Amino acid sequence: MRKKIVAGNWKMHKNSEQTEDLLNDLIAKIPTDSETQIIVAPTFVNLASAVDHLEFINIDVAAQNMHQAESGAFTGEISADMLKSIGVNTVILGHSERRAIFNETDALIASKVDTALTHEMTVIFCFGEELKDRQEKQHFNVVENQLKDGLYHINEAAWKNIVLAYEPVWAIGTGETASPEQAQEMHEFIRENIRKNFGATIADEVSILYGGSVKPENANEIFSKPDVDGGLIGGAALKADDFIAIVNAI
Ligand code: PGA
Repeated sequence: MRKKIVAGNWKMHKNSEQTEDLLNDLIAKIPTDSETQIIVAPTFVNLASAVDHLEFINIDVAAQNMHQAESGAFTGEISADMLKSIGVNTVILGHSERRAIFNETDALIASKVDTALTHEMTVIFCFGEELKDRQEKQHFNVVENQLKDGLYHINEAAWKNIVLAYEPVWAIGTGETASPEQAQEMHEFIRENIRKNFGATIADEVSILYGGSVKPENANEIFSKPDVDGGLIGGAALKADDFIAIVNAI
């Protein structure tokens, strides 16, 4: 049985006090009997306090990015070892904002994946087509290439540390959501593609999250699709009530 996961990507939101407030709110409202894995990704400066805060709580902490090198003269960057040393074992890589705004290429993301896996971290690997790709009916090709160029070099054993997050760029922060049918169609394509390249066991076990304007109002329908194993949530992860409602929608 593959894992159900709801992850909140807080992006560049919430200072230290606001982080603590949101975490406290989540702790107060989190369902205790849920089998869904819950992950939050606050900003780098609040990761250590989030780990401390959630020590006895069933919520994992992820970083939103990291550098591919072990260490060195990379002003402003954060390494896998630094994350691990404060108890962060999960990292989001390849988010569309990193790709579009910070020029991260598939090759760069591939090397970050390698570094994270070397450190036995779990990678939430993000990918998804832009609006023009879908308009030109290239979305399946684009997604396949992102997977091939960023991820498919890993070995079979490494897949246990991979979570996929399909996020059509046109649906991120736009209020525009892929329809549940569009999400299912792509998730099914992704799983089939993994089956072709890595076999049925890996394809059946990898969790594929959907991301892009997931809200309490649409989560249930999206999550009801057979190949959608949860969500990567941006805007709606910033309010405890909305985030918990999405967790409860699984
Ligand atoms: P959104 O962001 O839920 O605000 O669309 C999703 C994401 O960027 O992961």
